[in-house]
Formats: sequence, C-alpha cells, structure tokens
Amino acid sequence: MIEEIALRVEPRIAADMNTLIAQAAIKSRIDRKRIKGAKIVKRSIDARQRKVMVNITLRIYIDEMPSNTSLGIKPTYHDVDDAQQVIVVGAGPAGLFAALRLIELGLKPVVLERGKDVDERRKDMAKIARENIVNPDSNYCFGEGGAGAYSDGKLYTRSKKRGSVDKILSVFHCHGASEEILVDAHPHIGTDKLPDVIKAMRMTIIRHGGEVHFNTRVTDLNIDGDTVTGVTTADGTEYAGPVILATGHSARDIYMMLKVRNVDMEAKG
Ligand SMILES: Cc1cc2nc3c(=O)[nH]c(=O)nc-3n(C[C@H](O)[C@H](O)[C@H](O)COP(=O)(O)OP(=O)(O)OC[C@H]3O[C@@H](n4cnc5c(N)ncnc54)[C@H](O)[C@@H]3O)c2cc1C
Repeated sequence: MIEEIALRVEPRIAADMNTLIAQAAIKSRIDRKRIKGAKIVKRSIDARQRKVMVNITLRIYIDEMPSNTSLGIKPTYHDVDDAQQVIVVGAGPAGLFAALRLIELGLKPVVLERGKDVDERRKDMAKIARENIVNPDSNYCFGEGGAGAYSDGKLYTRSKKRGSVDKILSVFHCHGASEEILVDAHPHIGTDKLPDVIKAMRMTIIRHGGEVHFNTRVTDLNIDGDTVTGVTTADGTEYAGPVILATGHSARDIYMMLKVRNVDMEAKG
C-alpha cells in the first residue's frame, strides 16, 4: 500500500530520511516497522518567517518495497529515420523540445542551428570576454542550447496558463538532470550542468533518426502560394518540409525577413 503524507519540518529533519519516516508514521498512525521505504515527491522551503520550515510530501510504502521506477513521465521516442521530415529552425529550448516532441509523434526533425555545438560555442564566448571578438552566429544568444545555455538553469515559472510543466521537467530528468527537479517547488538544473543535458537531448534526436546541423543559418522561407514548403540557408542549401521557427527573440534578421515576406507576426502578450 502506498500513501502520501504532508509534513512540515525543520531543515535538519528534512535532510534525514529516517526521521522523516518516523514523523510520517506518527502522523499516519502506522507502525513504523510496516513502512518499508519512502520517497520525497514534493518539497518547498518556507522562509517567510524567522524560523525556516520545509514542506514535504512523503510517499510511504506500507508492507511493500519501494519501486525502482523513477518519478516523472518517461517519453516514448520512435525511430523516425524514414518518417516525414519537419524543419526546426533553432536549437534553443523551443527548438530542442519541438524536435523531441516530433520524434514522440513519429516525425523526423531536421534541426538547423546557425551557431555551434554547446562545447565549441563556449570557446567563442571566451573570445568575447578576453579578446572583444564577437562571432555573430556563436555568442551568448546564438548556438546550441539557445540564450540561457550556460545559466544556472532555473526551471520554475509562475505561469499556469500553459498547463503542466511536469512533462518538461521529466524530459530534462531523462537527459541527465537530477531527480530533485521533479520534487522541488523551485527547481534548478544547476550551473554548468545544462550543457551536458543539452548534449544528451541532441544525442536522443540523432539516435532516433533526426538530424542536427550546426553552422547552418536560415536566411529565407520557401513559400509556394500561401504554403511554406521549406527554408533556404546562408549557403543556398534548401531543406523541404513544414517549418517550425524557434529562433528566439534575438534573431532580428529572421523577423525582418518575415516582414519582407509578408508573414503575419503577433507580439507576445
Ligand atoms: C544569461 C541568460 C540566463 C538565462 N537564465 C534562464 C534561467 O535560468 N531559466 C529560464 O527559464 N530562462 C533563462 N533565460 C531565458 C531563456 O534562456 C530563454 O527564455 C530561452 O532561451 C528562449 O528559448 P528559445 O528557444 O525560444 O530561444 P533561444 O534560446 O534564443 O534560441 C534560439 C536559437 O535559434 C538559433 N537561431 C536564431 N536564428 C537562426 C537562424 N536564422 N537560423 C538558424 N538558427 C537560428 C539561435 O542560435 C538559438 O540557438 C536566460 C537567458 C539568458 C540570456
């Protein structure tokens, strides 16, 4: 039998699973010996008063051993080698998540990214700081992982209007982020950990038959009548297929191009 118990405890107790289980036993009036294991499934820190407290939801396993299954939702990625291709422009968060979602839907993402991969991009960022040299396609805004790729990976949002973020957190967890992000009310991936998670996401895309092309700047949409049929890149290569533009808010050249091509645009609310 599994039960979830809400506890409000001091930080030192929150860090000690045995004491947490003992408290859960008292609260639920279940003999401590019957609790074979426990998992924290939600955790938030209440620091509004002088005495800091931690709110915890503890899942206790009564008369049964805890399952080894991880918290979170495991996405199912299909083999999309021969599937219909969809062009994803940009390998920031929007582009990477779009590509993974396409694979879940059985479609082949072809990701076109103007910048470099997350390791090579780091060298260009060092050049900005040390030598004042800016590569317009590989910098703080552009390159694999997008604008916040080297940040502390703060993952919380106050916005509820777009539905649950649990799936997003699970995808990060499946690609190497700690299980704690599934539990904490204010999750962080942690400074310097994001690049490895991003690389793992790229590997998932490639392993399942998708493509990721770096140093590939999209310069134009190919339009036939009212239908977008693909894109053209800076070196003149054309990629055919429906297009997801995930170029972020710094890609002014793309917005200029859309205006010139009479594509409707809508400002974010
Ligand atoms: C320093 C910093 C720290 C941040 N920290 C956080 C944080 O902790 N938590 C958080 O939630 N948010 C954070 N953000 C904000 C977050 O990074 C952005 O909201 C997010 O990156 C937007 O994602 P996106 O995919 O829409 O766009 P972007 O991240 O901007 O990605 C767009 C991608 O498209 C590529 N691209 C652009 N034009 C073209 C083209 N013509 N052809 C091909 N590719 C193109 C770019 O190179 C880029 O990789 C941070 C931002 C910065 C700058």
